[in-house]
Amino acid sequence: MHEIETSGQEDLYSLSILVGTGECNAYCKHCGGVPLRKYAPKEDGIIDRDLFEKILRECYDRGARYLSISGCGEPTLSPASVTATMDLVHMLAEEGIAYTPVNLYSNGIRIGNDSDFSNTYLGCWRQLGLTSVYLSVHDIDEARNAAGYGVTRYPKLENILSRIHDAGLLVRINLILSKENTPTCDDFTRMISALREMGADTISAWPIRGLNDLISPELAPSEQELGRMAEWVMRNEDPNFKIRLLIEKGHDSYAKRKKLTLFPDGKLASFWCN
Ligand code: SF4
Repeated sequence: MHEIETSGQEDLYSLSILVGTGECNAYCKHCGGVPLRKYAPKEDGIIDRDLFEKILRECYDRGARYLSISGCGEPTLSPASVTATMDLVHMLAEEGIAYTPVNLYSNGIRIGNDSDFSNTYLGCWRQLGLTSVYLSVHDIDEARNAAGYGVTRYPKLENILSRIHDAGLLVRINLILSKENTPTCDDFTRMISALREMGADTISAWPIRGLNDLISPELAPSEQELGRMAEWVMRNEDPNFKIRLLIEKGHDSYAKRKKLTLFPDGKLASFWCN
C-alpha cells in the first residue's frame, strides 16, 4: 500500500518514478540508490502497474505534468521495465492524462557501449512519449568520468549524445559537481563550454549530496566556489542554452512538496535528490 503525504498537496509540479531491478553498471561513491535496491523487483519487466497508474493519475490531478523515470540502479539495464512504464504513460496520454516532458535518467554507459540497445529502445521510448535523457556526467575527460563512475572505461560522451539525438530525444546533462572533478569555478566553466560544444541541449549542475539529501561538505566543491559558479551562471544567462545550478532551489521545491518520488517500496515521498 503506498502512503501519500497529506499536507500541502496542491500545486504539485513533478513526479519521479523509480523503475527497474536496481542493477547498475557503475559504482559511484555517493550512490543514493543502494539502500533502496532491496525493495526493487528482482526481474526486468516487473512493475507494479496498478500502483504506477494510480499514482500517475493522482499526481496529474494534483497538477504534476513533469515526469522523470529513474531508478535505484541504471534504468537502461531494465529496458522491459522502462518499456512497460512508458506503455502506461502512453496509454494515459491517449486518455488526456499527458505528462510532458517525460525524462529518463541514465549514466549513459549502455547507450554508449551497446548500439543494438540504443537502436532498439531509444526510438521506441520516444514513440511512447519520452522527451529527453538526463545524462549524468562527472567529468568531460573520459578517464576521470570513468573514475567518477567507479568503472575502468566510460564510452565517449560524443557517441552517447549522438545516439540520443539520433533517436529524436533531447539531452540534458546532469553535471555532478565534486571536489574531485570540479573543485573551482574555472573547472565548471570549462566543462560547460565543452558539453555545449558536444551538443548538450541543456545543463543542470548539482553539488554532490549525502544520503541525508544535504550538500556533502566532504565531496562537493566549497561554498565559496559554488557561489562563484552561481554568479557565473547569472552573468551568462542565454535564452538559447539553459544552464541551471541547483544549489538550494531544487531542494526548496521538495521542501514545499512540489515534487514527489515513488520509491520501489511503494512509498511516495518528497525527498530524493534527482
Ligand atoms: S550510476 Fe546512479 S545508480 Fe549507478 S552507482 Fe552511480 S549513482 Fe548509483
